[in-house]
Amino acid sequence: MRVLTTSKIQFQSSLGKMLDENTVYGVKPKGSAYEFDRLFSADELCLGYDIALLPPNKYFLPSKTSLLKFTLDPKNHVDSTVAVQPSIIVGIHPYDLHALKLLDAVFLGNLRDINYQARRQATTIVGIDCLQPWPYSFAASMGTALPSDNFDLWLTDLGNEYLIEVGSEKGEKLCQTYLEASDASEAQVKQREKLRKDSLSRYKLSLEISPQKIPEVLDTAWNSPMWEELGQKCFSCGSCTTVCPTCVCFDVGDTVELNQLAGERYRIWDSCMFDAFAKVAGGENFRPTGTDRLRHRLYRKGKYMLERWGQLGCVGCGRCVHACLVDIASPVYAYNRLAREARTR
Ligand code: SF4
Ligand code: SF4
Repeated sequence: MRVLTTSKIQFQSSLGKMLDENTVYGVKPKGSAYEFDRLFSADELCLGYDIALLPPNKYFLPSKTSLLKFTLDPKNHVDSTVAVQPSIIVGIHPYDLHALKLLDAVFLGNLRDINYQARRQATTIVGIDCLQPWPYSFAASMGTALPSDNFDLWLTDLGNEYLIEVGSEKGEKLCQTYLEASDASEAQVKQREKLRKDSLSRYKLSLEISPQKIPEVLDTAWNSPMWEELGQKCFSCGSCTTVCPTCVCFDVGDTVELNQLAGERYRIWDSCMFDAFAKVAGGENFRPTGTDRLRHRLYRKGKYMLERWGQLGCVGCGRCVHACLVDIASPVYAYNRLAREARTR
């Protein structure tokens, strides 16, 4: 695939043209933080951000999705409600791109989800290297600080210009339609490698073992005192899962019109940290305490998702580390501590 370059001034003007003809989402400042939101002018985009409050997953798995509408008229209609508008997301960081790969495995595997598939196919992904990581991230040690291969275009900030790697035909088309770019020089590609290498040394948090060792550590960690120590402080608020780019749990519900002749089936975000998540008919709850739920979340991220979908369920973005009011949600703290406990056992 091609590697191109364009000046930042030129990129800004190309983005303006893109906005005139497309729905474009990008990272915008929100107070002292950043968020993915719809862009209405090119100068709203902030590509030098450290982290967005929520990952871009909301464009593929909205907090509430209508799945189907039904009527009980004589024709007994059931219509699936896949309503998707083509869009471009600009500014995805590498760890969120890795998380998207996991979402693809979950929703486009054996049990293909047509809503997710339609949104994914209608979206063009333009990512950017994260050269100034925020202090809560440990993506470098998780192997997710550099982009995976599922992007359409990938940008690197070289100072006065962007290096642009084309990753797909969709990306190539976007380039040809909107970007005035020329082939990058060998020196610019080398500059990108140096910038990336330097960025890896800026991460303040780090996993002390290889990420591939996490399942092995968890194999002997079920009875660690750490679970109770952390879990009894948990509010079951679900903040750690709401901000997580790899969390995929949802609930499905129905609403029925008062006349009981029509209704809708919808899907909403759920969280394994909510106390009712594992509650079943008859009142039985398979994970009744905060300790049970906290342990489940970290086993799911460090073992179950890898076994089921071939990828760890944590990309080290650090959002949960920051979001938890009582400072107990950090996977890097938990896995490092459990690894140390395993060594002294
Ligand atoms: S578990 Fe925490 S650090 Fe890992 S991907 Fe989710 S939010 Fe990010
Ligand atoms: S671990 Fe923290 S953020 Fe997660 S549910 Fe418990 S209190 Fe909330």
